[in-house]
Amino acid sequence: ICFGERVPVVDGNVARVCARLWLLEDDFRQAAPRASLADALQPALDATESAGDLNQAMMELGALVCRPRRPECGACPLVAACRARRRGCQADYPRRTPAPRVPERQAVAVVVRRGAAWLMVRRPGDGLLGGLWELPGGGRQADEPPAQAARRGVREQTGLEIEAEEAVEATLRHAFSHFTLVLQVIRARRTGGWLKAGGGAPARWVAPADIRRLPVATAHRKILARLGLV
Ligand code: SF4
Repeated sequence: ICFGERVPVVDGNVARVCARLWLLEDDFRQAAPRASLADALQPALDATESAGDLNQAMMELGALVCRPRRPECGACPLVAACRARRRGCQADYPRRTPAPRVPERQAVAVVVRRGAAWLMVRRPGDGLLGGLWELPGGGRQADEPPAQAARRGVREQTGLEIEAEEAVEATLRHAFSHFTLVLQVIRARRTGGWLKAGGGAPARWVAPADIRRLPVATAHRKILARLGLV
């Protein structure tokens, strides 16, 4: 359009017109199908005197006539050749590949107090979020009730026995690149046991002023913020 180059424009408007015109099944949000469509349009551009006018006409046709919703097929110069119009399936084009479903991982975060201090655990140094601090609990197995997961998780991580409330206080979702963490917040009180000494994930009773200084995993920081601790 600007420099007189014979290069097909394939923006969203042009892709929509072409997808409907020829019933193309590609998802033109992706680069490879857009490049293929540009190749397919190249001969038409080479055959016309004004490539810029053709590009502009296609873009405007998509923007003003072949709109995403309720295209004005009656006013379209391509109506006789349009396959989508013939089949009445304009709304189905262009195709969009559904985004892959991100798996969910279930976990519990257990809020336990001893006086003014709060129970915190440190993640192992290797692996996801290695070395960061968080509320105890951890992963919840499929079909495991949250309160049961809380008791098991706290016992495994800290050595303490707790009595967990059956009700989930809050549910928080946190997106990682390859999964979504669904974290159920459970309140509990200590009923027995002693903190594990050394080895594994260290557990500690932490005063609020010290919690603010700890490097805490983001999802757990949100919970601590709701508790007014950070
Ligand atoms: S006839 Fe309708 S669906 Fe087909 S290109 Fe024209 S406006 Fe789009």
